[in-house]
Amino acid sequence: MAEKIQMTVPLVEMDGDEMTRVIWQDIKDILLTPYIDLKTVYFDLGLKKRDETDDRITVEAAEATKQYGVAVKCATITPNAQRVKEYNLKQMWKSPNGTIRAILDGTVFRAPIIVKNIKPFVKTWEKPITIARHAYGDIYRGVEMKVATGGKAEIVFTGEDGREAREVIHEFDGPGIIMAMHNLDKSIESFARSCFNYALDQTQDLWFATKDTISKKYDHNFKDVFQAIFDAEYREKFAAAGIEYFYTLIDDAVARVVRSPGGFIWACKNYDGDVMSDMVATAFGSLAMMTSVLVSPDGFYEFEAAHGTVTRHYYQYQKGEETSTNPVATLFAWTGALRKRGEMDGAARLVQFAGALEKAAIDTIEAGIMTKDLALLAEGDKQVVNTREFLQAVNARLEVSIF
Ligand code: NAP
Ligand code: MG
Repeated sequence: MAEKIQMTVPLVEMDGDEMTRVIWQDIKDILLTPYIDLKTVYFDLGLKKRDETDDRITVEAAEATKQYGVAVKCATITPNAQRVKEYNLKQMWKSPNGTIRAILDGTVFRAPIIVKNIKPFVKTWEKPITIARHAYGDIYRGVEMKVATGGKAEIVFTGEDGREAREVIHEFDGPGIIMAMHNLDKSIESFARSCFNYALDQTQDLWFATKDTISKKYDHNFKDVFQAIFDAEYREKFAAAGIEYFYTLIDDAVARVVRSPGGFIWACKNYDGDVMSDMVATAFGSLAMMTSVLVSPDGFYEFEAAHGTVTRHYYQYQKGEETSTNPVATLFAWTGALRKRGEMDGAARLVQFAGALEKAAIDTIEAGIMTKDLALLAEGDKQVVNTREFLQAVNARLEVSIF
């Protein structure tokens, strides 16, 4: 056996919960540690440990990501009332992803992993479409009111100097509903920079769309902030990389996306990103084949799968049953992180290994060996295997390709 691949700087490793925690260990044992002298700074973000540490472990993991630059994260439980009971929690801890995102000030980019024998529902799509969702404000921080009778609704802004600015929303002559929402230039600027940086990183065009013709101040501000940052900081870099920044109206964008071959990044406002990421994921096939990467405006990266901890499968696993849970998105979180680490450290073998491992996984599926979720979608011959058998089949291909 050839010498193991060395790492100079460690990855920040964030372990997680349930079925994905089981898969996490299997991926390391079967596909990583036999080939790499794996160096990680380990944080256990499993719910038990978060509870024991009053969730300090999540904050420490995010801080370590700022120190080392690249993290890989397993799916984690975001507790609800039922989980508080199940795990006997001290309190209903916040979503780890929300906590990490707040510390890194990042944007999440989601992209599908494409295999030839699973055809997207949109037949023109040949290459992945990556969705970038702005993660602050708009209706997610909206303030809403129901009015029962007639009356005047106004927006009132009181400046720090006490001066008021007013805008009439509507003169109601009967019951109705009102919503006020906001965003921050600082947050939109970070979002724009994360998107421009990621487009350069991936050498892909960046699309952005809002409804600025109707929303002449709110949405128009998004458009203006993006354009100003592009002109001042990115226009030349994009030209040098041979990529484009393209702005259009959201309804035009939807029509163009459906007719496109894919292969670009689509930046979306918060609500549009919420809706469109589910649309794109479903149209490409399966949530189990969606990767996700959090990119901070300062250039820190955190890789993960887009799906959750696959609780239903975990309960079967606990009963001793074999499960056919798809490990591909979690595997690609690891390869994404290893590739980025290799690029940052000038470690060519690590970059090559990440590519070889991704190719081995895709070749395995294209040869018809796959987990149950994909068998429902794939064309041609197929052999359904359990999670561990799938990882072993990937390893059989990987061994041949690198030795
Ligand atoms: P989920 O874990 O994504 O699973 C929902 C269903 O999708 C599964 O029951 C399964 O369907 C299918 N599925 C998802 N990933 C799969 C895979 N890799 N292989 C095969 N099938 C897969 O979502 P959830 O059940 O709504 O949430 C479970 C837990 O995950 C929750 O506690 C939630 O807080 C957490 N969560 C975490 C993250 C994160 O850390 N980023 C994201 C989302 C949810 P079948 O059961 O029909 O086979
Ligand atoms: Mg959604």
